[in-house]
Amino acid sequence: MTTRLRAIRGDITKLETDAIVNAANSSLLGGGGVDGAIHRAAGPELLQECKLLGGCKTGDAKLTKGYRLKAKHVIHTVGPIWHGGKSNEPEQLASCYRRSLEIAVASGLSSVAFPCISAGAYGYPAKSAAETAVKTVRKFVETETSLKEVLFCCFSEQDLQLYQQALNEWTA
Ligand code: ADP
Repeated sequence: MTTRLRAIRGDITKLETDAIVNAANSSLLGGGGVDGAIHRAAGPELLQECKLLGGCKTGDAKLTKGYRLKAKHVIHTVGPIWHGGKSNEPEQLASCYRRSLEIAVASGLSSVAFPCISAGAYGYPAKSAAETAVKTVRKFVETETSLKEVLFCCFSEQDLQLYQQALNEWTA
């Protein structure tokens, strides 16, 4: 099976994919931006489960249930804070996408939606974040064939355009 990669514009908390990915911080105890929106929509049980996880390292990911979300699961990943690009940020960002997809596959999930990890409060330049996201996901699905669809859920029209460009450019 080939995996469909698609960029859409919308609110990730409304999606009905098997999992949505949360751009969390290393405490996994909630925050602003997409993290806050996901916790608000999922309800307080999500925080209860997150408290049991012992945090998460930058570039890694952890799975929880989705509670009141339409998505059955949340994959929490911790993106790098942008420090100019010479502190391993691209590798760490790529690792977020890879680890999230590895966890999805290991859990038998077939559709996953990503927000623009690190491209908000963490300051990662949006264009290069989109390129890394698309390249990493494409490479992953070259050898792993159990995923039906990976969505890039953009909050802004500008981000959507960057992802559409990246998807056209990095066609395998
Ligand atoms: P980070 O700290 O990893 O940068 P942010 O939450 O600050 O995370 O931003 C990541 C991206 O998520 C930004 O592009 C932001 O516009 C987007 N975003 C914020 N709220 C939502 C939402 N409800 N659905 C989808 N994307 C969102």
